[in-house]
Amino acid sequence: MRASSLYAPTLREIPAEAELISHQYMLRAGLMRKSAAGVYSYLPLGVRVLHKIMAIIREELDRAGGQEILLPIVQPAELWHESGRWNDYGPEMFRLVDRHQRQFCLGPTHEEIITALVRDEVRSYKQLPLRLYQIQNKYRDEIRPRFGVIRSREFIMKDLYSFDRDEAGAQESYRAMYDAYTRIFARCGLKTHPVEADTGAIGGDQSHEFMVLGDAGEALIVFCPSCGYAANVERAECAPYEPAVSSTPLCAMEEIPTPGTTTVEELTRLLQVEPSQIIKTMIYIADGQPVAVLTSGAHDVNEVKLKRALMCDQLELANHEIIAEVTNAPVGFAGPVGLDVPIFADYSVVPIVNGISGANKKDYHLRNVNINRDYIPTKILDLREARAGEKCVRCGKALDEARGTEVGQVFYLGTKYSKPMQARFLDQDGVEKPFVMGCYGIGVSRTVAAIIEQHHDEDGICWPVSVAPFSVIVVPVSYKDEAQRNAADQVYYELENAGIEVILDDRDERPGVKFKDADLIGYPLRVTIGPKHLADGNVEIKTRRTKEVSVVPMADVVDQVKALLNRLGE
Ligand code: ATP
Ligand code: MG
Repeated sequence: MRASSLYAPTLREIPAEAELISHQYMLRAGLMRKSAAGVYSYLPLGVRVLHKIMAIIREELDRAGGQEILLPIVQPAELWHESGRWNDYGPEMFRLVDRHQRQFCLGPTHEEIITALVRDEVRSYKQLPLRLYQIQNKYRDEIRPRFGVIRSREFIMKDLYSFDRDEAGAQESYRAMYDAYTRIFARCGLKTHPVEADTGAIGGDQSHEFMVLGDAGEALIVFCPSCGYAANVERAECAPYEPAVSSTPLCAMEEIPTPGTTTVEELTRLLQVEPSQIIKTMIYIADGQPVAVLTSGAHDVNEVKLKRALMCDQLELANHEIIAEVTNAPVGFAGPVGLDVPIFADYSVVPIVNGISGANKKDYHLRNVNINRDYIPTKILDLREARAGEKCVRCGKALDEARGTEVGQVFYLGTKYSKPMQARFLDQDGVEKPFVMGCYGIGVSRTVAAIIEQHHDEDGICWPVSVAPFSVIVVPVSYKDEAQRNAADQVYYELENAGIEVILDDRDERPGVKFKDADLIGYPLRVTIGPKHLADGNVEIKTRRTKEVSVVPMADVVDQVKALLNRLGE
């Protein structure tokens, strides 16, 4: 490839819309352009990187028993009605209507389509297990598209679906995919951390997310530096608190005036108490019914856990009117004492002795509130969001926290789709059984951005060799100079003949411009051909990542480049 004909419009300025370094570099290095909010066009260099990642994915999935298929993006609503997700999916789903007024969606994911496909074709246990995957655009009308392709509305995903006879088989598929993911991300040069995850809209019983750590990540992860437990906070379990065995006598409950004091922070300041002494009371509406949820003032409710605990479909914080109705007070004065709705208490309120809570009366709180004496929770369970400093549920040591971006997720689905969609096979014992399924996604376009987040410096991208758009760029200081041109052409052809992906910067540009572009785009190696070294028959090889330079005879370039690429790829 010659740079003069490459469509890679680089930008010197940082685009104003791009907050994240990966987003900036993807635009500046000419990998992609924005077409609409959260919708991007990929230019040749971007496509080359995508293809590299896809090739790695295909190799590893094929090795793990995967077979590639291609499913439709346009999916009929009927299938989504069968699984019950047409209504559940909400406004994230792009919906459309055809000329006959039939409803469709643009696939945000493909469990329904694949389950229907396999249901109609696969009849016998002898045809199992099946591991089918595709690499294709997905559509999600994200509420907040941002960070370029990290959260976009059209994105490329690899999705694999496994069909097994029984749970043991499905667990084996899960393990095979987990291991394949570990290899895929490692080969892409990405350092990922698998964490236990909630199953969200996809459903199912067990899930891991592969996280790339970084402050820009939208997910919060807690992990235990001692035993290795790691989980998304949506999922992370919290240890129960031991009931207080303190000698503090239980004091008589009393009302205290707290005019205008509605937050934990204001209350701790006014009363000079720790947040952990406060019994925070939140009113939620779960499938239309009000419930009170208690945590200590030092914690927050984890709504994912709450939803799971209440086994409800719809969960939202109550509005002002409902709070007034339930507590007889405006927002900020709710408390468990005398409440006439079910009370779900997080473990963190159990050890509170002589605590503070709202009085269910405007401008008043209660002092010396005690569990089981002044209020009796309907249920005490794990409802709070895990945080750094809490005890690890596994080993009891202190948890730490970090932010992360999910690049892949594996789900054990069980019969969540096969049962309602009646996808069954005939087992060896002659009994019809639902397929036991799993599903497994990788955000291919998000992975590009994640790689850049981990591999860049102030000059641009530093691609790992495995996913670089080209491995080497040959840069003659002046392509107009005959000696340099001949040498550059020769090096270029030799590298190309040796099967190395090489680009020749034959543009009539100043050397500074060519070097800047090479650094910005981030080719792992640059072979520079300049008059000084060429006079001795030598060229310069520079490693992008380390900035190391070696001067080598022209005749050795191919061997040297191969050796360097090998070393970089290790
Ligand atoms: P997130 O929690 O980040 O919204 P998700 O859990 O909804 O992601 P999955 O349904 O598990 O996503 O999709 C599989 C993969 O697709 C994710 O691991 C992620 O890499 C990628 N992905 C999901 N949503 C987007 C998006 N809006 N833009 C780019 N990639 C995405
Ligand atoms: Mg996910």
